[in-house]
Amino acid sequence: MPTIQKADSRQQVLLGLGANVGDRWANLRRAIQDLAARREITVLTRSSVYESEPAGYADQPRFLNLVVGVETVLAPEELLAATLEIERGLGRVRSFANAPRTLDIDILFFGNRSVNTERLQVPHPHFAERPFVVVPMDEVLRHPAFQGPLWDPLRATLKTDLPRSGVWLWEEQE
Ligand code: ADP
Ligand code: MG
Repeated sequence: MPTIQKADSRQQVLLGLGANVGDRWANLRRAIQDLAARREITVLTRSSVYESEPAGYADQPRFLNLVVGVETVLAPEELLAATLEIERGLGRVRSFANAPRTLDIDILFFGNRSVNTERLQVPHPHFAERPFVVVPMDEVLRHPAFQGPLWDPLRATLKTDLPRSGVWLWEEQE
């Protein structure tokens, strides 16, 4: 019997990446490579890189942020495990909330699924109030891979009046 793939076994996911310690761009590039190197994850597109003011705890260096659009066969919890492993691989040490970090990967959206466990909340509860997420996410949703009805509600949300200040284009998408 051939294995039957469920129609929804591959999900499109938006990941928010940020770094404000060390060679920030090298950390982000490495994270994208680490994601792409996994058999269960395909990187579809990424936004430009933005520089942003730190949120929450202000007395720290500026961040570089971007949003990556991927496709994965992993379940949300499995993807979280993978992203935490990639963060650890970049030498991230967890100290306190909003502390400086070599790499942060947040699962912003996982297809149209909602997850609400102690370990994982998807959609990410703070995405709409973070300009460093809103601005690059808008860019990713213009990519051909993200056209179609699945992402229309989010596109509509992004058309509303969300905060977009405090981020600066750092490097154009090549
Ligand atoms: P933050 O990104 O808010 O500064 P951390 O990166 O230190 O915080 O993440 C702390 C925990 O947040 C993770 O160990 C993870 O279990 C949890 N978490 C909850 N929802 C998400 C999500 N959507 N994406 C990533 N982590 C999440
Ligand atoms: Mg995080």
